[in-house]
Amino acid sequence: MQLQVALAQAMAVLEKAGVEEPRLDAKVLLTHALGMTGAQLFTHPRRQLSSTELTDYRQLIERRAQREPLAYIVGHKEFYGLDFFVDTRVLIPRPETELLVEKAIEISQRQSVIADVGTGSGAIAVSLAVHLPQALIYATDVSSAALEVAARNCRRHGVQDRVHLLQGRLLEPLPGPVDLIVANLPYVSEVEWAQLPPEIRCYEPREALYGGPDGLDHIRRLLAQARGYLKPGGSILLEIGATQGEAVVALTRRHFPTAEAEIIKDYAGLDRVVMVSRGARGQGAEEQGSKGARVNDVGAHVFQLEVVD
Ligand code: GLN
Repeated sequence: MQLQVALAQAMAVLEKAGVEEPRLDAKVLLTHALGMTGAQLFTHPRRQLSSTELTDYRQLIERRAQREPLAYIVGHKEFYGLDFFVDTRVLIPRPETELLVEKAIEISQRQSVIADVGTGSGAIAVSLAVHLPQALIYATDVSSAALEVAARNCRRHGVQDRVHLLQGRLLEPLPGPVDLIVANLPYVSEVEWAQLPPEIRCYEPREALYGGPDGLDHIRRLLAQARGYLKPGGSILLEIGATQGEAVVALTRRHFPTAEAEIIKDYAGLDRVVMVSRGARGQGAEEQGSKGARVNDVGAHVFQLEVVD
């Protein structure tokens, strides 16, 4: 069968199965099955597929038609310009999480000590290690299966000496306080869980996504632990769901009363990251001055917190 015919058939199968981008996925899976590049596909539309190639391709298409995520089928996913190995032991890195990495790089000092909490595939920790070559990074996860994937990604990108993988609950495995805590913890609420597409709900690890009734169970626990693990002058960057900004700021207020908390929007205009900046010791009085929320130059809400630490 000709390549272009196989592709057209596959697209029709995926479309019928309700896959969001049937054309793109059919092409990606064809390049994967044949070991060709996208450009080669394009320039050889009449190439004949052998019967083995066709069987392989149809098997991949069938998996995708069952709504298995593309990244699990091909075994990798691009994040922050780097290619990461992924399988069902870890959440697939999301483009919106690049904002967390971008912010972390922006506010880090050259030799920062950073903790990536709930590292999963290691996408955040590895991206930070690649872009901050002098930083020391701890990456924790409660799942030892996830840490195996993270270890593989550390080796893939040659940062295994600067990313220390630690198994345990949230910040507990850290040897001491750090300059920056970054975390994309599970934050999906009970209501949102039921509405997730099958790709996520039926294939990705629930423990990497589900955050209890309001989605904030893990973030709440992390903030309760964080005081003892954050150096004076340190910061926390948390990925959040679009409706959780105010609630997470209120939580940070409880544990870091003199810190400044800021909600940062993603490129879709949704609240995506909460940044907490703990003033160096002795700055409490200065920070006390302004009250309530203001909006900074990039349109983010900035909350000056009122009570002294
Ligand atoms: N943004 C993710 C989603 O696709 C949720 C990630 C998380 O819970 N940390 O639903």
